Amino acid sequence: SIVVTGATGQLGRLVVDALLDSAPAEGTAPAERVVAVVRDKEKAADLAERGVELRIADYGRPETLADAFEAGDRVLLISGSEVGRRVAQHAAVIDAAKAAGVAQLAYTGVLGGDDADFELAAEHKETERLILASGLPYTLLRNGWYSENYTANLAPVLAHGAVVSNAGEGRIASASRADYAAAAAAVLTGPAEEHLNRVYELSGDTAWSFAEYAAEVAARSGREVTYTPVSAEAHLEILTGAGLPRPLAEILVDVDRAAEHGALALRTGDLTRLIGRPTTPVGVSVQEALDAS
Ligand code: NDP
Repeated sequence: SIVVTGATGQLGRLVVDALLDSAPAEGTAPAERVVAVVRDKEKAADLAERGVELRIADYGRPETLADAFEAGDRVLLISGSEVGRRVAQHAAVIDAAKAAGVAQLAYTGVLGGDDADFELAAEHKETERLILASGLPYTLLRNGWYSENYTANLAPVLAHGAVVSNAGEGRIASASRADYAAAAAAVLTGPAEEHLNRVYELSGDTAWSFAEYAAEVAARSGREVTYTPVSAEAHLEILTGAGLPRPLAEILVDVDRAAEHGALALRTGDLTRLIGRPTTPVGVSVQEALDAS
């Protein structure tokens, strides 16, 4: 089977969609080949309705992972969202995958791998080391930033007429979540020999600056929006002032600091090659967010 963990998350749902859309193997209905590993059965009711098999497991409770995988499964481990706990959680998933004898373990890491010099990358780098040490056939999907990280936050941008960042002139090669999901589906369904023991650096075809992003929001919303570059200290104050918990604000400011020198700008073309089409321009994601609001 093709097994997706974190299948009730935003990326996971899109991966399942992409898998259900992909051509079925001869003689099988597509939905029968897809398994979702989720911790909340209720949240996955719609997936079950579409014919996806559910296996219930929590990364944080290793005993629940014993039946999550079967020999020969092609597995996507979607990194967890509980920052600070993820190395132990991912280690438990890797151990379970190893014990089951899965045929492929794909993992959503971070663009640049060991070169990603921001705090949020640390758990991904450690997880990659654990995967390599496990000896399992792996596929590392080093995801760049989602365009939605920015476009989900348009309300304050439009309210203040300002895009605020401490990334200076740094550029972001973002792509849409659906683009990254399509890449994950491609490596889980494509010929295994092409994708096993491979590392993909996934990012958008275009790297934009925050000034360009502000111009895009302005053009599509018809409002005046400009880029306001600020210092790390000022950005931290703005974010905590807006009600963000300080540890989260510090993580975001640290990401921008790294983005200033290009940590999120790497473009290898891996994403566009895996999905067989151009990546989604950030302006399209802006438009989708405006249309949805
Ligand atoms: P979501 O927060 O929407 O999804 C995270 C998924 O992980 C959810 O399905 C969640 O389950 C599951 N999960 C978290 N903790 C556990 C656990 N202990 N046991 C089982 N499942 C767990 O994030 P996205 O889908 O947007 O992104 C996927 C991952 O990518 C994130 O978790 C994060 O690691 C990383 N990320 C990458 C970004 C980027 O720009 N590249 C930006 C943000 C995150 P449940 O549905 O039950 O909550």
